[in-house]
Parts: sequence; structure tokens; C-alpha cells
Amino acid sequence: MMSIAQFQQLIRDMYLEKDLARGVDGTFMWLMEEVGELASCLRHGTHEERLEEFADVLAWLTTIANVVGVDLTEAVSRKYGLGCPGCGQVVCSCAAAEKP
Ligand SMILES: [Zn+2]
Repeated sequence: MMSIAQFQQLIRDMYLEKDLARGVDGTFMWLMEEVGELASCLRHGTHEERLEEFADVLAWLTTIANVVGVDLTEAVSRKYGLGCPGCGQVVCSCAAAEKP
């Protein structure tokens, strides 16, 4: 079991120096590449491959948060901590045509 905060710290410990040197633009490109791999994997991949791709997308997203100094726990707590940001309910009651 690993919290969002623990995962962000782990990614920071492993990669921050390299991530800062690469910068946000280059890092964002890696995230987009991984999102593409996830898309492909969702269509044609095995469960094992999906485990890897979800981990990669989350890792690159977390890396970008580290580079720009965003605390992911704060980010998700602020936006989703009290339920759906659209309707405020824990089980979303927004209309089907709305984004949430
Ligand atoms: Zn909602």
C-alpha cells in the first residue's frame, strides 16, 4: 500500500535531479508518449502490460508535478476531497452530457 504522497516522494528521490535538468517541456513529451502507449495497451494489451502502462503514466505525471512544485495530495484533495467538483456529491449526480 502506497499513498499518493509516498509515491510522489519516491519519484522525487529517484528522479528529481534528472527531471529538473530535462525540464517541464521535455518531461511533458515523455508523459504524452506514455499516454499513447497506454491508449494502445487499452486496445490490444494484456492485463500485465496495462499494469505497466498505468504505472508509467502516473510516474511521468508525478514527475511533472515535482518539476513545477505541485503537491499531488494537495491538488487532488482540493479538487476531489469533498466529492465531485461539479455537483459536490460523493456519487456524482451531474447530467450525463457534463464532463464529470
Ligand atoms: Zn458531479
